[in-house]
Amino acid sequence: MRSKYVAGNWKMNMDKAGAVALAKDLVEALKDFDGKFMIAPPYVYLDAVAQILKGSNILLGAQDMAATDNGAHTGAVSAKMLKDIGVQTVILGHSERRYEFYESNRLINRKVLQALENGLEVVLCIGELFSQRIVGVTEDVCELQIRDGLAGVSNDQLSKITIAYEPIWAIGTGKTATPEEAEKVQASVREVIGRIFGKEAAGEIKILYGGSMNASNADELLAQPDIDGGLIGGASLKAETFVPICKSSLTK
Ligand code: PEP
Repeated sequence: MRSKYVAGNWKMNMDKAGAVALAKDLVEALKDFDGKFMIAPPYVYLDAVAQILKGSNILLGAQDMAATDNGAHTGAVSAKMLKDIGVQTVILGHSERRYEFYESNRLINRKVLQALENGLEVVLCIGELFSQRIVGVTEDVCELQIRDGLAGVSNDQLSKITIAYEPIWAIGTGKTATPEEAEKVQASVREVIGRIFGKEAAGEIKILYGGSMNASNADELLAQPDIDGGLIGGASLKAETFVPICKSSLTK
């Protein structure tokens, strides 16, 4: 059986003191639990948070990364730089990167390959717009994002990939996909992985759900057979809202 994974994406929130304080609270609250947890603070607080997470059971994640190696790329941050300060995993293809920063599947794929080459785990986000859902192309959109996003990834490398299905209309809106709606898409995502990488790989890969997950709806969502955890935005910004979701993930 796949174990669960709960990841917090802090986005562009908090100040340094708040980031350090939240990281300390989470280390303390989760220290006795045997789960997979990750937090992704803003770049400028990664180093400070890395010091707090050392030796804990919480992985340090980045929210994005450059598609290229070190060099003349003003404003960019490479996989090597992230590794250097203790980052273990990176969120790629988040819908806010796709739509605010015009990131294409092709660019996201270059980032995925760059992360894997440098030994980082990846959380690859996929998901449909509401306009795509209502015309019935949700599964097609997700399949394309997976096929393009994972082009050139080997079966061995797939073990470093987690997929996060995040219906864009549910992100930060308070609207959650029902457990059944989410499960239907998550199961289709697993089938796509099976068609590309084989049945065994499909059975092993973790597929998270993201989109207004919180302490009240986590139990029901995490009880679905193809929901292997959550990628949490708003509710990851406070220990009192994030920790209960982490605890819910342990009981499923
Ligand atoms: C996200 O941005 O990945 C996300 C799931 O946000 P929220 O939980 O706030 O909907």
